[in-house]
Amino acid sequence: MTASLTIAFIGLGNMGGPMAANLHKAGHRVTAFDLSDYALAKAREQGVRTAASAEEAIEGATVVISMLPASRHVEALFLGSDGLLAKLAAGTLVIDCSTIAPASAQKVGNEAVARGHAMLDAPVSGGTAGAAAGTLTFIVGGEAHVLERARPVLQAMGRNIFHMGGAGAGQVAKLCNNMALGVIMAVTGEALALGTAHGLDARVLSQMMAVSTGRSWATEVCNPWPGVIETAPASRGYAGGFGSDLMLKDMGLAVEAAMGVGATIPLGELARNLYAMNKQAGRGGLDFSSVVKVLTDRDGR
Ligand code: NAD
Repeated sequence: MTASLTIAFIGLGNMGGPMAANLHKAGHRVTAFDLSDYALAKAREQGVRTAASAEEAIEGATVVISMLPASRHVEALFLGSDGLLAKLAAGTLVIDCSTIAPASAQKVGNEAVARGHAMLDAPVSGGTAGAAAGTLTFIVGGEAHVLERARPVLQAMGRNIFHMGGAGAGQVAKLCNNMALGVIMAVTGEALALGTAHGLDARVLSQMMAVSTGRSWATEVCNPWPGVIETAPASRGYAGGFGSDLMLKDMGLAVEAAMGVGATIPLGELARNLYAMNKQAGRGGLDFSSVVKVLTDRDGR
């Protein structure tokens, strides 16, 4: 039985909400904060204690977890004289699970260490279903001994933990995964659009591909074609799931990361533009599998 820890959890969105609830269910003393009253109310329904501010949430905490949209939110929360790093008790373990730029993760990680704390970048894979089921994959950057300290906390929210290297390495690995996912989702939609244009049944085509060499998470689990998989966002008007704008953000981070080291990512750059077009068509808030509509809707909407 893992010792009960006092944990502050900041960011209770689609991912952070269920992650905080799982920490609470595992017996930890969780105090959570989000800017949204709706997110706070949902957390309380799950039995999670909430605070009126991030500063209040960190009172007495030995572990702080953040799950925020993007780099600027993470930097604003932690850095500067008003940031949390300046207010935490010395030796606090900080785990940022958001997907952000590797350079941003390094900046916050270095500042945390300079202030006497321990920090990991620990972005996740597994989506909202994985967050709810406590089966996330954690993709970790930071020192090995800090990961060992964090392991019981991460195990209450996930199933797989990969140590990728030092500060920022978790974010680099996460971007590699998501760039591949973004490309695969777009090309799966393209294949289904081609097949259906020839009169094929998208369901049978998907079933065939799911046991053939074109198989992927996009054919089997989050199929972009409405009605093929009942539990997929495509079958409920692309609601919920992983937002198209979040995928656009991750593809942009992958492009930036590639430029930083002179890597060539032609497919990643092409697919980033498809998600930008999906945003322009007003679907940024829908699941990212809605990118298929860029290919199927005659007016791009
Ligand atoms: P979300 O937009 O649903 O939630 C983000 C939450 O952060 C919101 O509730 C917002 O109010 C809150 N927030 C923003 N700034 C804040 C602040 N200063 N203090 C407190 N709360 C603040 O996003 P999400 O889907 O939960 O994703 C969170 C992160 O996880 C993103 O970086 C995303 O890329 C990544 N991610 C998401 C998924 C997914 O399937 N949704 C999967 C893997 C990784």
